[in-house]
Amino acid sequence: MASSSTATPSRRSVFDAAYIRSEFSAAGISAHFIPLIWKYVLQNPWCGDLCGVPSLPATAYALLQQKFRPTTSTLTTAADSKDRTTTKLLIRLQNGESVEAVIMRYDTTLGKYDGKPRSGGVRSTLCVSSQVGCKMGCRFCATGTMGFKSNLSSGEIVEQLVHASRYSQIRNVVFMGMGEPMNNYNALVEAIGVFTGSPFQLSPKRITVSTVGIVHAINKFHNDLPHVNLAVSLHAPDQDIRCQIMPAARAFPLEKLMNALQSYQNKSNQTIFIEYIMLDGVNDQEEHAHQLGKLLETFKAVVNLIPFNPIGSSSNFKTSSDQNVKKFQKVIRGIYNIRTTVRQQMGQDIAGACGQLVVSLPDERSTGGATLLSDIEDFRI
Ligand code: SAH
Ligand code: SF4
Repeated sequence: MASSSTATPSRRSVFDAAYIRSEFSAAGISAHFIPLIWKYVLQNPWCGDLCGVPSLPATAYALLQQKFRPTTSTLTTAADSKDRTTTKLLIRLQNGESVEAVIMRYDTTLGKYDGKPRSGGVRSTLCVSSQVGCKMGCRFCATGTMGFKSNLSSGEIVEQLVHASRYSQIRNVVFMGMGEPMNNYNALVEAIGVFTGSPFQLSPKRITVSTVGIVHAINKFHNDLPHVNLAVSLHAPDQDIRCQIMPAARAFPLEKLMNALQSYQNKSNQTIFIEYIMLDGVNDQEEHAHQLGKLLETFKAVVNLIPFNPIGSSSNFKTSSDQNVKKFQKVIRGIYNIRTTVRQQMGQDIAGACGQLVVSLPDERSTGGATLLSDIEDFRI
């Protein structure tokens, strides 16, 4: 057994659920205390240590002191858009890297559900990152240009919610920040387990995981994360175009992906959110809309058309014209009867859209706008 001697191993986040549970279990401390510790950190975000958590056994304080920190990441900056609907958080991790998370405030009284105004007030959605960078290399994505740097621990994913909770009461979480969540699958499942338990108590129906289409992970998704929403970045209706814009499509061919989605839907009976980035002249023609409509004919799906946000000088793509987007939407809706929304862009003044986040590139984009995910929100009760 390794002794607890001289070298000072870095302490882990209390929100690393599997780790704290195993340490507590090894020390004979009940796991029931863990949510109390989390609640304390959530309510005392600036607490430097865990001595103030009330009513723990003495052994727990010693263990916490030795092996854990209330948070391992630090909130470096929080930038509000002028209209205050969007706040971008820059968060520095223990390994020195940074990630971004974005809070989006959505006024439900302005939203529509099936054409009718919705009741309720302001709800906040947090867009979280799962990795620093991403190895999938989608050609239109700023995060993809960084390459892969590291995986976030489950605790680091949860800490984004802890930091965001200082600013807004978060009701929805979307995994649409930096990284491919299904390439960090264990941490994803563990973090969502924490989100849905005490003290966070988010409904799994208010959590959405967006993936480029990692087939083996989609096959496990329903079993591991029942009721959590699945959003798939399809972006093209055929294998050739998909490969051109998303190198990962070679490893996960469209046919295999659609089969995995079909069996996921058969098992879960959940609506699948299909994300489709509109790239001028690449995938936005009427014929593509027909192909997409046919591809989705057997599914209960909602298509979100995403206007492409330019990602700096290196990008070869252009945003589709409004006219093309409308035409595309008309075909999918009118002919194939598939619910189709166009994603609104907001908070143009604080570069940082979900899925376009990039940290520490010399050429930081200034054209991005945070995306208000009213499309997914609109279809959730
Ligand atoms: N890796 C996951 C989740 C993060 S990306 C995925 O790819 O789904 C979240 C969303 O933002 C994806 O649908 C992604 O395709 C989209 N996105 C990436 N770059 C974008 C850009 N430049 N403009 C608009 N949306 C973009
Ligand atoms: Fe990775 Fe998603 Fe960006 Fe593709 S779109 S590079 S999968 S973060």
